[in-house]
Formats: sequence, structure tokens, C-alpha cells
Amino acid sequence: MIDCNAKFDLHSHSTFSDGELTPTELLLAAKESGISHLALTDHDTVDGLDEAHQAAQEQQLTLISGVELSATWRGQLLHILGLGIDPSDTTLSAGIASNKQRRQTRAIDMINDFRNHGIELESAVSDIIGSATPTRPHFAQALINLGHAKSKNQAFKRFLVRGKPGYIALQWPSIAEIADWIHAAGGIAVLAHPLRYKFTRSKLITLIDEMADCGIRALEVSTPTCDPQQRSMLERLCIDKQLAASMGSDFHAHGQPWARLGTAAPLSAAVTPVWQLIQSH
Ligand code: AMP
Ligand code: MN
Ligand code: MN
Ligand code: MN
Repeated sequence: MIDCNAKFDLHSHSTFSDGELTPTELLLAAKESGISHLALTDHDTVDGLDEAHQAAQEQQLTLISGVELSATWRGQLLHILGLGIDPSDTTLSAGIASNKQRRQTRAIDMINDFRNHGIELESAVSDIIGSATPTRPHFAQALINLGHAKSKNQAFKRFLVRGKPGYIALQWPSIAEIADWIHAAGGIAVLAHPLRYKFTRSKLITLIDEMADCGIRALEVSTPTCDPQQRSMLERLCIDKQLAASMGSDFHAHGQPWARLGTAAPLSAAVTPVWQLIQSH
């Protein structure tokens, strides 16, 4: 039974992907933000979960094992969260390994593409990535460090996106494949930040229907960047389509005021919160 003082943040990142805090620092920050239940959902990796669980025990906070998996749907990159996964499941582990391999190959292709544009990033970006899963924000940081961009936002305008240096198109697995991995690991699959894809309403509904066919029956409804109208629109969709609702900040770093830990607004009582479906492993 979840007590009424519970405070959930079911979407966050650490240094194991593109976050700036180690799992230990993240759990400390979560505690300071009054969070009682945190999910660590690094991009295409579960490598931070062991440290996170240990830190959660020290902070007396509940850590939900999670991951944010990249998928391609109709040529568009989507993010699907797996919450309450068993990270040791062999199907999920194999799937994650394949996504990591895609990221590693893409990183090499990105370095070569920058080189073709006269920008040498290899040593700077390798130092930044270290043993993390390679992500575009690592490249954005390297571009900043070398004076090619003033901020991550600028790096994501001048580089790294379609039509700009450093952009490498990638075919990720289908939503059906991603759903199978998450379900094999006993997790709940959730469509992350549904409004960030800028779909029309009818396209979003087509996606939701196709997700439901794959057993994906939850939406991330509350994020700090969505306003009350957007939240209630998504809650309405959850009710109409019989989906569970999730909430999370998508926290990456302290310097990002639009995604502060624990600042996703509470869910309305009219929706089924996703944590009612999450099993403990
Ligand atoms: P990747 O998964 O490697 O393609 O990188 C995607 C990540 O880049 C997202 O999860 C965000 O954290 C980050 N990102 C995307 N756009 C921006 C932006 N304009 N400014 C800062 N970070 C961004
Ligand atoms: Mn990210
Ligand atoms: Mn995402
Ligand atoms: Mn995220």
C-alpha cells in the first residue's frame, strides 16, 4: 500500500547515460527533493541500477528499476520507458545490448561525419563518454568544450539534428520488439513524453492503438514541461483508452530548470497510476 505522503518521479538519468549525476548523487538529490519513489531510466542501459539500489537503501528511498529504450515508429524516434523491470532478464539484456551496439556504431559514424565537416571531436568526446552509453548530449558537451557551441541547446540547433553535421539517421527496433523485451523482464512499458513528438492528435491516437496491440498500455502524463491543459488532455486519453498514467521529471542535470527532480505535478485521482501495476522483483 502506497502511503499518501509518497512522491513519485519515474523518469531520471545518471552518468551511465546522459545525466550529470552519478546514481549515488542522484539518489541523494532525490531524497533532498522529498521523493519517496524514484525510477532510474537511463537511455538503453541498466548499468547504473546496482549503484542506484545501494544508494536508495542508504537514503531509505524506494528505487524502481527502469530503462528508457529508443524505438522507431513510422520513421520517428520514440522513447519507451520500462518500469519495474528485472534488469537481469536475458531477453531484455540482449535487447539492450543491441541498442547499445547501435549507439556505439552511431558514435563512430558521428565522429566521422564531424571530421568530414572539418570538426575533430574524437578525443574530446571519448573523454566525455568514458564508460557511459554514448548519447548526442555527450557530443553536444564536446562541441561546447571545443568552442563550437555556447550551450547544449545551440549544439542541438547547429549540429546533431537532421540536415546538420553530426546527424546520423538510425533505425531502432520496432515498438513491438521493445514491448517484448520489457514484458519479458516483468516490466511495464510506458510511452515517454507523448507530446514531445509533436504528433497530430489523430497520429497520437494511431500510435496509442498500435502500442496497445503490443501490450503497451501506459502514458507518461505528467512531466514538468507540460501545462495543466496538456496534462488533462493526456489524462482524458488514458481514461478513454484504458491506459495507466505515469509521472516523471526526465531529470538530467541540476542546471536544467525545466526538468527539476520531483517537479512533475501529481496525477489526478481519475487515472490509474502506473505504480499500481509495477511488480517488485
Ligand atoms: P540520443 O538518445 O543520443 O539521440 O540523445 C537524445 C537526448 O538528447 C535526449 O534524451 C535529451 O536528453 C537530449 N536532447 C535532445 N534535444 C536537446 C536539446 N535541444 N538540448 C539539450 N538536450 C537535448
Ligand atoms: Mn536524455
Ligand atoms: Mn526521452
Ligand atoms: Mn529521458
